[in-house]
Amino acid sequence: MALEKYRQKRDFKKTTEPKPKATSSTSKGKLIFVVQEHHASRLHYDFRLEMNDVLVSWAIPKGPSEDPAVKRLAVMTEDHPMDYANFEGVIPEGLYGAGTVEIWDTGTYEMIEEAKGKYVFNLSGKKLKGAYCLIQLKSADSKNWLFFKKKE
Ligand code: MN
Repeated sequence: MALEKYRQKRDFKKTTEPKPKATSSTSKGKLIFVVQEHHASRLHYDFRLEMNDVLVSWAIPKGPSEDPAVKRLAVMTEDHPMDYANFEGVIPEGLYGAGTVEIWDTGTYEMIEEAKGKYVFNLSGKKLKGAYCLIQLKSADSKNWLFFKKKE
């Protein structure tokens, strides 16, 4: 089950984050993405892409850059439920990811290229627009990826 890690890390009696539903509704139409500004112990930006009914997620410590010359580290984290795309709020102290979560950008996307360890996609957000890449760093820890805007 794709959301097992998400579930294990959280106590849904204490956090207001969405609890995964038993049955997920396959969304119709365009795929969505969201970027959440997360003021946890360290500020980072959680970048999430809808894929197969979950939000595949990366934490980008410095946030996305619109400059194609700037490649940002993106650390893959656990898949999140689709409902998380609407989540904003405060995760209480002492819990996993404690701190404030705000939606920084959201919109739809189209996958342009998909391979093992490589995604190229076109974002139609309020802030992020155009083609972006996520490339896994194979030589390093496999959780580490690079996020950057594709050159025109
Ligand atoms: Mn986070």
